[in-house]
Amino acid sequence: MQNVKLILTDIEGTTSSITFVKDVLFPYAADHLPAFVKEHINDENVQAALQQTAQLAAEDGDVINADETDALIAKLLQWISEDRKATPLKALQGLIWKTGYENGDYKAHMYPDATEYLKKWHDSGLPLYVYSSGSVQAQELFFGYSQDGNLLPLFKGHFDTLMGGKRETQSYLNILAELQKTHTGLNAVDVLFLSDIKEELDAAKEAGMQTVWLLRDSDIPADAAHKAVKSFAEI
Ligand SMILES: [Mg+2]
Repeated sequence: MQNVKLILTDIEGTTSSITFVKDVLFPYAADHLPAFVKEHINDENVQAALQQTAQLAAEDGDVINADETDALIAKLLQWISEDRKATPLKALQGLIWKTGYENGDYKAHMYPDATEYLKKWHDSGLPLYVYSSGSVQAQELFFGYSQDGNLLPLFKGHFDTLMGGKRETQSYLNILAELQKTHTGLNAVDVLFLSDIKEELDAAKEAGMQTVWLLRDSDIPADAAHKAVKSFAEI
């Protein structure tokens, strides 16, 4: 790790297992969605999501009135089964996950080495940021309610796909421009990006950043285009 002035990290597959999101968070939201919507039917965020659901359904040629709660819930469950990333569905999932974290129904997974080194880097004064396809709100819940406690204070900021897709070079340039607003004189090469996905690392490298590839469960290819490691201890 040479001349790194700031670390930008991915979450899933990098600091934390992919299975937590896939096997815990998504099924939890699907299981709790019908009851959650009915219990919070007067909540303005839920109302807004239901109205957007009706609008999106209408665009698909499926007319449902905004007060037909059961039909709207059925539509949302259909989108879950189709893995459709509809905005109102994502909003409701976020609300349900928040309740689940607050109730202690689950805690976000962290690889022990990730927690250990994030703390070390933070304590040594290195600014830490997150870039994940999960919304900033979801990222904050994730680190706020992790199995290693509240890790949110370790991070100076969070980026999501409002910066652009994770495999696009422009997204990393957008993030750099944001970082430069608070870190005067920061150059792309001062930033180390951590991810488990080669295409994301390719995009970050193209933007001029340093990269490290987390390959926790797979073999490191001999011709890896990025520095590849098994754990944060090797970074
Ligand atoms: Mg990842």
